Amino acid sequence: MSDKQVAIIGGGPAGLTAAHELTKHGIPGVVFEKDDVVGGISRTVERDGYRFDIGGHRFFTKVSEVEDLWHEMIGDDFITRPRLSRIYYDGKFFYYPLRAMNALRNLGIFEAGLCVLSYMKAKIFKRKSNESFEDYIVNNFGERLYKHFFKTYTEKVWGIPCTEIRAEWAAQRIQGLSLWSAVINAVFKPKGQGIKTLIEQFEYPVLGPGMMWEKFTAFVEAKGIPVHMETDVVKIHWEPGKVTGVTARHPDGTEKRYDATDVISTMPIQELIAKLDPPVSADVAKAGQGLKYRDFLTVALVVNEEHLFDDNWIYVHSPEVKLGRIQNFKNWSPALVPDPSKSCLGLEYFVFEGDELWNSKDEELIALGEKEMVKLGLIKENTVEKGYVVRIPKAYPTYDADYSSHITVLREFLDALPNLHPVGRNGMHKYNNQDHSMLTAMLAVRNIDGANFDVWEVNVEDEYHEAGASKSAFSEPSPEGSGNGHGDMAPEPDAEADEEAASG
Ligand SMILES: Cc1cc2nc3c(=O)[nH]c(=O)nc-3n(C[C@H](O)[C@H](O)[C@H](O)COP(=O)(O)OP(=O)(O)OC[C@H]3O[C@@H](n4cnc5c(N)ncnc54)[C@H](O)[C@@H]3O)c2cc1C
Repeated sequence: MSDKQVAIIGGGPAGLTAAHELTKHGIPGVVFEKDDVVGGISRTVERDGYRFDIGGHRFFTKVSEVEDLWHEMIGDDFITRPRLSRIYYDGKFFYYPLRAMNALRNLGIFEAGLCVLSYMKAKIFKRKSNESFEDYIVNNFGERLYKHFFKTYTEKVWGIPCTEIRAEWAAQRIQGLSLWSAVINAVFKPKGQGIKTLIEQFEYPVLGPGMMWEKFTAFVEAKGIPVHMETDVVKIHWEPGKVTGVTARHPDGTEKRYDATDVISTMPIQELIAKLDPPVSADVAKAGQGLKYRDFLTVALVVNEEHLFDDNWIYVHSPEVKLGRIQNFKNWSPALVPDPSKSCLGLEYFVFEGDELWNSKDEELIALGEKEMVKLGLIKENTVEKGYVVRIPKAYPTYDADYSSHITVLREFLDALPNLHPVGRNGMHKYNNQDHSMLTAMLAVRNIDGANFDVWEVNVEDEYHEAGASKSAFSEPSPEGSGNGHGDMAPEPDAEADEEAASG
């Protein structure tokens, strides 16, 4: 048995994957999860037997190790679902990924022609600046397509103008998608024809993503790694050169110190910095406070209709309603809806913690959701039976103009504490999917066991995003620094498979 003892903060995908990896290395550990459910943002919420996601969580990865682990943990309860999603804009539904005839019909020949001209103009007179999301999209798609398919939705998601969002975000999330690839896809891969691509189907646990994380929890607990629920890590103890343990507040209010040789943190990096004991220098604290987040709330509506529409989800670009996306959970898995005569929808609102929507009463949000759905013509009046509201703070780490300078300061500080391992989405302030979180956690544990991965490099190097990059597992950097890097994995989902990005 190893002489190490690892404290893991968070029972989401990253924390539980870290615990799973510890079991493979024979390293003892303990997980602290402040909530009463596991899964973090990838949890499944259950109310009166209705199950729903925070958003909809597709299981999609190009990293074979992650995919194999999902299958190993969930076995036959992993179902393959057909994907159908559309964009609602200007009173019309556009299939997404685009279908040529549908797009032409909706835009009209004249407007489609203008889009092509504006694309050509953007290619000839490229903007000199490529700093902002707007620059990136206009340079790649032209002004008119930017206005039709990117601007309104992206601004709903982030709550800031596209001119203030860094181009890196677009590059990361929709890299590889060009106008031509979208058009070629629309023309040559109509629905139902040929190979089923990853775009047209995805995997999903039959009872929602939380089921995966419950299986992980049962597995690691059976192997001797306890998962303490409703247990908030309130301090991370450190001294120059290392962390020494954490203090956790248990559900009965008692605080207990746990010594650790290593701490893996998946809590938001901003909170990690604020909870370091003794407090960090003013510069480091300021960098932590400077990070921004977008928060999220979902209104789940139980609708008295057996079938509403075929989409798994619909992006709502139209600015006349506040909601940003609609999930139809029955189309993710019929088992999520206990009464087959009803449907359950998830209405997604992108908000800031403490803003008007966030502070609205649940009944007001349910009424707003119903009103907006009727306005969009997606449900009939008086068909909503009941609703539930779930608020998720810090759902999205924001890539604003200053975030990378803050991260530079924080990394410099954290690099001097090599036994503190920040991993995961908010843990590293990276706009990532589950597979990235899992991968960073796996690599951190391998580092604890003597490997030398640069976990920060996962998903930041351009080559990780390259279309068609190999699916094989990662490798450590070669000692000579020959550029082998961390490998050739490409965990970034296809541009078209992106779940949150501007859907154009
Ligand atoms: C709307 C939406 C849709 C998404 N769709 C997809 C999708 O389709 N596919 C996909 O793969 N990914 C999707 N994602 C991304 C996915 O949710 C995240 O990548 C993933 O959950 C990140 O895992 P994590 O463990 O890094 O962090 P989290 O899920 O944030 O987990 C962190 C955990 O740490 C706990 N914690 C925090 N502070 C403390 C503390 N002080 N003490 C103890 N515990 C603490 C939290 O309670 C939480 O459980 C989506 C995200 C959103 C917001």
